[in-house]
Amino acid sequence: MIYARRGYSADVTPSETPPSEDQIRRAPKVLLHDHLDGGLRPATIAELAREQGYERLPETDPERLGAWFREAADSGSLVRYLETFTHTCAVMQTAPALARVAAECVLDLAEDGVVYAEVRYAPEQHLERGLTLEEVVEAVNEGFREGERLAAAQGRRIRVGALLTAMRHAARALEIAELANRYRDLGVVGFDIAGAEAGFPPTRHLDAFEFLKRENNHFTIHAGEAFGLPSIWQALQWCGADRLGHGVRIIDDIEVAEDGTVTLGRLAAYVRDKRIPLELCPTSNLQTGAAASYAEHPIGLLRRLRFRATVNTDNRLMSATSMSREFTHLVETFQYTLDDLQWFTVNAMKSAFIPFDERLAMINDVIKPGYAALRSEWLFLRNSSTPL
Ligand SMILES: [Zn+2]
Repeated sequence: MIYARRGYSADVTPSETPPSEDQIRRAPKVLLHDHLDGGLRPATIAELAREQGYERLPETDPERLGAWFREAADSGSLVRYLETFTHTCAVMQTAPALARVAAECVLDLAEDGVVYAEVRYAPEQHLERGLTLEEVVEAVNEGFREGERLAAAQGRRIRVGALLTAMRHAARALEIAELANRYRDLGVVGFDIAGAEAGFPPTRHLDAFEFLKRENNHFTIHAGEAFGLPSIWQALQWCGADRLGHGVRIIDDIEVAEDGTVTLGRLAAYVRDKRIPLELCPTSNLQTGAAASYAEHPIGLLRRLRFRATVNTDNRLMSATSMSREFTHLVETFQYTLDDLQWFTVNAMKSAFIPFDERLAMINDVIKPGYAALRSEWLFLRNSSTPL
């Protein structure tokens, strides 16, 4: 690895009081990396299992079931972690079940203050009861639209686009990429590949990526989560990914000297120079061992170095998280202010797969005014508590 680039100071001082949990929840948030089959409500899983006669759930009481999912994800065992998705996917095999899960996903995100989200799922994992790939996509789209309508009726505006995921170990990537292209402008905004990184490099699916590039379409690749720099390098330089799903191991190409001087390797410099978005998922990384604690999570350094870092949930059910919880952990750990949260949010909106003018409108009409309102609230509270 070559460390021959300019040095950077890694110091930053917070300039204002960290926002409260309530302010974080009300702040407009943007989410780019969230799995539909990793965000179900435990009560919905239990209900769908009962309706469909699925008898293999480890618990039927919603509260105990929710705890089981968190413990399995926390266990450090990949087998137990993967078992969680066996259960969620098992109850997402009919059009009404998919639509319900999609609608509830939108409502839960809206309730959490998310104003724009790209939610991903693998259509090939929902064919066990006879649905076609097209029927899966249409059921999820219908659920997303219903969720947006119900949220709007509650006074919460949110827009959700779908990303279609292909599984790395399977051989359907081109077929799923074609599906994503067919449903472009019909609710699907891009493509992704996911699954075990080791042994399944993204270059196995070059035909899918080349097809999407020829179609001027967008895609992200799960890379640099468990597996390091070679996976990130392949995703960018061989496959041409627009964004990196996680990308957190880019930290392996950044050297921090004892005096705080930071030196970027060639790949890290490329990622920063080209403004490649990193879909960082702090809590998920703690569970999979990609980071040891929030304090040691690379997001702190990546934010200071002004990489195009974004904050994401990955699997809200398994990680017992939400965008507000992710932000709260970061605020507590790094003393982030509303300015920092706005920076992450604008980064995410800039990196979304919807057209440029629509991203700009979200930034100028929704995100910036939302944070400005919270800032003025904070100023007012501070001023009103000042003795005359
Ligand atoms: Zn993911």
